[in-house]
Amino acid sequence: MIPFLDLTRQHAALRAELIDAAGRVLDSARFILGPEGEALEQELAKQVGVAHAVGVASGTDALRLALAAVGVGPGHEVITAAFSFVASGSTIVMAGATPVFVDIDPATYALDAEGVAPAITPRTRAIVPVHLYGHAAPMDRIAELGRAHGVAVIEDAAQAIGATYAGRPVGAWGDAACLSFYPTKNLGGCGDGGMILTDRADVAERVRRLRHHGDGGRYRHLELGYSSRLDELQAALLRVKLRRLEAWTAARRRIAARYREGLAGLSLTLPVEREPARHVYHLYTVRHRQRDALAKALAQLGVGTAVHYPIPVPGQPMFDLPAERQWPEASRASREVLSLPCYAELTDDEVTRVMRSVRAACEGL
Ligand SMILES: *Cc1c(COP(=O)(O)O)cnc(C)c1O
Repeated sequence: MIPFLDLTRQHAALRAELIDAAGRVLDSARFILGPEGEALEQELAKQVGVAHAVGVASGTDALRLALAAVGVGPGHEVITAAFSFVASGSTIVMAGATPVFVDIDPATYALDAEGVAPAITPRTRAIVPVHLYGHAAPMDRIAELGRAHGVAVIEDAAQAIGATYAGRPVGAWGDAACLSFYPTKNLGGCGDGGMILTDRADVAERVRRLRHHGDGGRYRHLELGYSSRLDELQAALLRVKLRRLEAWTAARRRIAARYREGLAGLSLTLPVEREPARHVYHLYTVRHRQRDALAKALAQLGVGTAVHYPIPVPGQPMFDLPAERQWPEASRASREVLSLPCYAELTDDEVTRVMRSVRAACEGL
């Protein structure tokens, strides 16, 4: 069996360093808002090339607090992609605003820039492009739209750390960007975690306040805030992993290159890496009209797969909007996408076996 994802392999390779990092935190007895979190914030801000980074309890909280920090609230609209993990849309509701879903570009799965401009109204306060699967949204055009309409841009970079667009890292394009350290992400912790990246000092300051009960110092609370900090244990473990991130990304890209060559000419649509984006293949997601049959055949051949995501965001029961009619590309993607194993610890032999199995499965459909 080739598992869709196997984090035990990553942790086995780093075990001594991870245990050492955890031991350092235990011995310090500082668990919330301390030197590990500050160091991780600095390391990630430097890597992405932004002035500020603020650690929070999850990627979901990063989005929710970033939206609040740029002034999104009741009565406002926020534009986002109709095809993503639910949090891209649900956090807009958490911030008190109304999500306005725009369909995706079916080739890159990113927010279709053509669809954004007509969706802007006088109530629009922000655009949340999602760099889905690790492929950047067209940030030049989205940033330009944001500027032209005086609307904030918040990148949902939960799946895309290390990705670039026109040579500039994702996370450095918007008014703010959000990372997730959910364990399965390219930079995943051993629990929940997230971060907000921004060049705006006002946004950084507001998010620091919001993550800690609206704190103004010495138990003075300036506004309603939350309890949403990145804990020191996670930060220490993430710092160990961050040192490997570029090598892991390179390994994901090598696997994707082998898939691109080895799976060409089948009844599958393969993911694209469209200039000027550098894909980090958080997920290697193909599409097929008989997706469920393909997944079943692969399971029988011992290849683990997963569906990201089976329901477009506006079609989720919590929104219950007519997705099929209003967001046809997002709806079609939700029926056709299938993610194949793609992680740094996958062996060359396993990649070969995945390709052989996909070929056999496609031919058998
Ligand atoms: C994972 C993810 C989130 C939420 O992050 P959590 O850390 O799980 O809260 C948001 N958006 C996208 C696109 C994601 O993949």
